[in-house]
Amino acid sequence: RYSTSPALEDPIKPPVSLQYDKLLINGQFVNSASGKTFPTLDPRTGEVIANVAEGDAEDINRAVSAARKAFDEGPWPKMTAYERQKIMLRFADLVEKYIDEIAALETWDNGKPYEQSAQIEVPMFVRIFRYYAGWTDKIHGLTIPADGPHHVQTLHEPIGVAGQIIPWNFPLLMYAWKVAPALACGNTVVLKTAEQTPLSALLVSKLLHEAGLPEGVMNVVSGFGPTAGVALCSHMDVDKLAFTGSTDTGKMVLELAAKSNLKPVTLELGGKSPFIVCKDADVDKAVELAHFALFFNQGQCCCAGSRTYVHENVYDEFIEKAKARALKRSVGDPFKAGMEQGPQIDEKQFEKILKYIRSGTESGATLETGGDRFGTKGYYIQPTVFSDVKDDMLIAQDEIFGPVQTVLKFKDLDEVIRRANNSRYGLAAGVFTQNLDTANTLMRALRAGTVWINCYDTFDAAIPFGGYKMSGIGREKGEYSLKNYLQVKAVVTPLKNPAW
Ligand code: NAD
Repeated sequence: RYSTSPALEDPIKPPVSLQYDKLLINGQFVNSASGKTFPTLDPRTGEVIANVAEGDAEDINRAVSAARKAFDEGPWPKMTAYERQKIMLRFADLVEKYIDEIAALETWDNGKPYEQSAQIEVPMFVRIFRYYAGWTDKIHGLTIPADGPHHVQTLHEPIGVAGQIIPWNFPLLMYAWKVAPALACGNTVVLKTAEQTPLSALLVSKLLHEAGLPEGVMNVVSGFGPTAGVALCSHMDVDKLAFTGSTDTGKMVLELAAKSNLKPVTLELGGKSPFIVCKDADVDKAVELAHFALFFNQGQCCCAGSRTYVHENVYDEFIEKAKARALKRSVGDPFKAGMEQGPQIDEKQFEKILKYIRSGTESGATLETGGDRFGTKGYYIQPTVFSDVKDDMLIAQDEIFGPVQTVLKFKDLDEVIRRANNSRYGLAAGVFTQNLDTANTLMRALRAGTVWINCYDTFDAAIPFGGYKMSGIGREKGEYSLKNYLQVKAVVTPLKNPAW
């Protein structure tokens, strides 16, 4: 599939006929109200891929009106669950049919290795839509034995118009995590994509309509946070918000929701996840897994294992091997076969990462390898490893969101539990041990929404994901995500003949 894809021979050619310079509102590709556009860039070169319509408050108003009408007048929320399921399954089939083209577009706009897009992300996107399609006809309320002569039941109803804001690190997966459960529950959606990666959402949303989605149910507005994003969060006719991105922006989203109509908000925010290598670990395997946990997706993962705690008994061996592994990492054009690492998303992130690297050196950590840009063009960064990192260094506290591994030494379990939990974040944690008691202790003690033991980044449509502390509010994926998109209505009727 990889070597024969026509999209790959010329990724610059739009794969499926698509109007990138339009917004998707009420089932139509339309110009932005202002007529303004903004460029989306190829992170390999910094060159313009396309000029995309720039939506602002006026476009958010149009999109929310369309979603409101589609929710209030139907047919989507009133369709049988089976009808909704068939449309979602048809959509999943269509995405699978165009997998090469969609993967190529994602890589072109984001810079992630094409093999990752084609073999992991688009297949996972399809899996998530099929998983939630399966839920559509299994969403129902309860009959409750309350005190007194009453028949009591709950109806699980869609919440209404869902406003969703997604980031640039996994544009397609974030779309799937948010849109699939919202649609399965019968809601309508206004999605604001990240300004760095607006393309793939437009493409798949076109296919969603080809699969039979009624107009107005799915609306996509490309645009910026302070304009389109703020307008969506503040809108009085949006019934629910779901956001993924930085913790600082998440706080603003929550505030805007509170100041407008008090719409419920789920947040999936930053992290600084510990990856703990215990003294009994097989060092070669631990090095490989810790490398993957940090460097996957150019280090641009909210759940990256970005504080690598290594037991003192195996520390020196670990450092030597982690450095060798980083030096072996293949960096380069993400469209080339076998590439593990492409460019960072944009110049802003590229500069931010280089600044953190300088701060690591200045604060006394040892730069084992990397530490600079890779090549001379685009936003590539050398895989970087720091040893002798201390908990109070900035590189051990802030989310770097790049290919920078920070390794810290520990002596005993109680100490590493305390240090691992001493973070404002609590998104994920990794544990590498062969000792069941150690695994059991750590899995309970770590304050994180996911604990991976002897594995990392194991994602599945059915496994919930979300954060403790400032890593977020609520859970996405799995059955847990359904309740983000449902209202519970209690219905009470008196019983004429309580004996029965
Ligand atoms: P961001 O949080 O500002 O952007 C994420 C999304 O929020 C984008 O769609 C953006 O347009 C929108 N947005 C921005 N300001 C908004 C506002 N005031 N109201 C509503 N929406 C708004 O993130 P960024 O600036 O792209 O990246 C900064 C840092 O955030 C990164 O370095 C990284 O540490 C972190 N980040 C985390 C994730 C994650 O998955 N948790 C994803 C991307 C970035």
